[in-house]
Amino acid sequence: MSDEKELVAHREFREDEFWREIPAWKDISREEFADHKWQAKNSIIKLKHVKEILGSRVREETLLDIEKALEIAPMNVRMTPYLFSLINWDDPANDPLRRQFLPFASQMLPNHPFYMEDSLHEDVDSPVGMLTHRYPDKVLFLPLTTCPVYCAYCTRSRIIGGSTATVEKDTYGAKPKLWDDVFQYLRSNPQVEDVVISGGDAFNLQASQIKYIGESLLDIPNIRRIRYATKGIAILPMKILTDDDWVKALSDVAKLGRDKGKSVVIHTHFSSPREITGWSKLAMERLFSEGILVRNQAVLQSDVNNDAEIMTLMTRQLGYINIQPYYVYMHDMVPNCERFRTTLEEGVELEKAVRGTTAGFNTPRFVCDVPGGGGKRNIASYEYYDKETGISVWRAPEVKPGQLFLYFDPIHKLAAYAQKRWGIEKERKVMVRDALSRVEPDLGSLNTEKLRERFGINI
Ligand SMILES: *Cc1c(COP(=O)(O)O)cnc(C)c1O
Ligand code: SF4
Repeated sequence: MSDEKELVAHREFREDEFWREIPAWKDISREEFADHKWQAKNSIIKLKHVKEILGSRVREETLLDIEKALEIAPMNVRMTPYLFSLINWDDPANDPLRRQFLPFASQMLPNHPFYMEDSLHEDVDSPVGMLTHRYPDKVLFLPLTTCPVYCAYCTRSRIIGGSTATVEKDTYGAKPKLWDDVFQYLRSNPQVEDVVISGGDAFNLQASQIKYIGESLLDIPNIRRIRYATKGIAILPMKILTDDDWVKALSDVAKLGRDKGKSVVIHTHFSSPREITGWSKLAMERLFSEGILVRNQAVLQSDVNNDAEIMTLMTRQLGYINIQPYYVYMHDMVPNCERFRTTLEEGVELEKAVRGTTAGFNTPRFVCDVPGGGGKRNIASYEYYDKETGISVWRAPEVKPGQLFLYFDPIHKLAAYAQKRWGIEKERKVMVRDALSRVEPDLGSLNTEKLRERFGINI
């Protein structure tokens, strides 16, 4: 048993005026800071803003480190003042929030040799534009590709946010006319009951668009459940507190859902206890009183939350403010993310540590969305896992019957001997074939061509 103080640590939330420690905002009142429009207008999108806002609190070396990172990063920078001022600027290198949103070149690592731009095969499993239909009864709808903040590790870095120095993107905002094909598809596929409205981020949909999407989907007889996905509660809780039109639109859709016997919820995205403050609590009090259920999807990340105490604290904090921890994801194998990834073993150990610390329904499921479109799998349900080579083999019987899927631990976390083997092309093949043959002996002899074709890996 932990001591008493530790047991209630999750009930304490920052209430201080922390933004006043940022030179540019020392005179900003609580009222101004609470205005979502002020937050949007003062968001940090350029390196020069970092310098202007922090003045002498940021070192020249740090700015250079960011500048170099932005020459190669696949994601644009966008941070709300709220998020920016929660960063500990006395030690930005080790800050879990800075790490997630503002890359340092000195911390970047080479991509895994088997990384993929679209590791989850969202574009492959797409029957009409803006829609991924992988599972029998649920779909992923991407009505826009912009967000109020950009995560350096975004799994959809190939499409989300504007183009960067290295990645050309066809960013799209919300264009309601283009959504009709999606609604039509859902109407003519009566097996679909469940729609995830993601993107991009639903916080960037106007109130009228929240309403239009909600009403259109709820009007389709087979659709029983919709979820709006937004990181907003974590990075801009002020919108929930001061954008009455937006909250009312959401609340109206939720009410319409209830009248029709259908569920309308929010899925949000907190990954660190440091993102949870008195503002999050206030925002949740409003949504809770509107009767809107909120669930959380976190991403497991090195030096952000790959620690039993941190993960447990976050789980209990979220539960306390009425957010249900739903998923903790293994990091996807997308470009420019090696510094964030953990081994599968770390995930399995964290799951063990968290389970039993609070209500079962507030305990997140730890999952791996396996590369190649196998979908989300329980983290401990691999068919085979070699901790030495970091290779795991998976099945997804109801999603892609008969297929195997591969996930790879980040190489820099393996023992020196295994790291060396990964450096030799021929050895990589030996390791992959060996792992596959433990599950299906015939696969131990697949040639390079077949390995590429079947697993999408650049072997
Ligand atoms: C995650 C996801 C869903 C929703 O899955 P749940 O496990 O129900 O949260 C639906 N479609 C796609 C393509 C997804 O990636
Ligand atoms: S909020 Fe979601 S979609 Fe937007 S950048 Fe972050 S992870 Fe990507």
